[in-house]
Amino acid sequence: VYIKQVKSSTNRKTYLTARSFYPRFQAIYMNLEDTLLMMPGPVPVAPRVLRAMSKPMINHRSNAFSDIYDDCRQILADVFNTKNDIFVLSGSGTAAMEAAVGCITNPEDRIIALENGKFGERFKNIAKRYGKVEPLAYEWGDSIDLGQLEEKLEEGAKAVTLVHNETSTGILNPAKEVGKLAKEYGALFIMDGVTSLGGDLVKVDEWNVDIALVGSQKCLATPPGLSAVSVSKKAFEAMDEMERMPYYLDLKAYKKSSEKTLRETPYTPAIPLFYALQEALHIIKEEGMEARIKRHCTEAAAVRAAVEAMGIEMLPNLKEHSHYSNTVSAMKAPEGVTGNDIKKDMQARGVVIAGGQDRLSGKIFRIGNMGNVQPKDILLTVAELEIVLK
Ligand code: PLP
Repeated sequence: VYIKQVKSSTNRKTYLTARSFYPRFQAIYMNLEDTLLMMPGPVPVAPRVLRAMSKPMINHRSNAFSDIYDDCRQILADVFNTKNDIFVLSGSGTAAMEAAVGCITNPEDRIIALENGKFGERFKNIAKRYGKVEPLAYEWGDSIDLGQLEEKLEEGAKAVTLVHNETSTGILNPAKEVGKLAKEYGALFIMDGVTSLGGDLVKVDEWNVDIALVGSQKCLATPPGLSAVSVSKKAFEAMDEMERMPYYLDLKAYKKSSEKTLRETPYTPAIPLFYALQEALHIIKEEGMEARIKRHCTEAAAVRAAVEAMGIEMLPNLKEHSHYSNTVSAMKAPEGVTGNDIKKDMQARGVVIAGGQDRLSGKIFRIGNMGNVQPKDILLTVAELEIVLK
């Protein structure tokens, strides 16, 4: 498609240059070790994290495991900015989303599900399985309207769900403002921080987040398979009123097992992934959250500046209190190409980016800068993008 597009352009010289280089790059980048992952998760994992996973198995009912778990929970508390309890689940981000909703929702409870992308929709679909959903949906990529949220809250609700960083559209939703409103109206605030925690500023306690959650394979730069949740006292009180709790994702069971004498998980944890998480969290500690957030912000701003210079439009339709994501940028595919074409052509050149999901498929492409992505990775990605789009 790229070749066809260039061919039809008036610039014959560009076409000839592209044709001579294209197959050669394709061959070079067949080597997987050479591939640069610039997608919004899974992200590249540091060699020391991979090495940590090859350590021998240990008894998960032992001090050796408890020390790892405690260490992870302590560092995560700094990442989340919370004094709430934190648990690590052996399951991806969606498991944590389901644990959050499933543990506080009785069948008659009203849950306001804010949706402006794929993962807001997922929260809505999970909530439908447990209670009565009150959707507050916007075009994917549009900003949410806090006035409309307040109107819904006035009618009463058990909880509000929000995706802080909507990975599918590259929009950063106003978590602090939603938390303030939820508190004012006595609703629990459940926040998906899957692609913000560990890369962008999140203040769980200050923003009144009752349950916050993160996935391992995003800004924490750990392989996929784990998630972590923080749970407030108010959320635990709501759990005491539940008619029925999930079994494997019972957060009260996680709390009981985590307490001083035990310091463990209720069921067998994915031990190699805990080794990896501990190592990855130490990388975060060594960098420092402030520097890490700054790096993510600078890199996302660089991507935006570069695509703007190429005449490409960002997807998010920003309104008051909403921002561009600092961990993933979503752009509209320029006329004549689809997001999937761009993704395919980039992949052939050794850079893996993402297309659009679901209803945004073909319409957009996304570049992630989560975890330990370095400025040179941004430069290479942008340079390849420029070549692909020429
Ligand atoms: N929430 C957000 C914002 C995400 O980006 C993702 C995955 O991309 C999820 C939830 C689901 O996480 P997982 O695929 O780890 O289950």
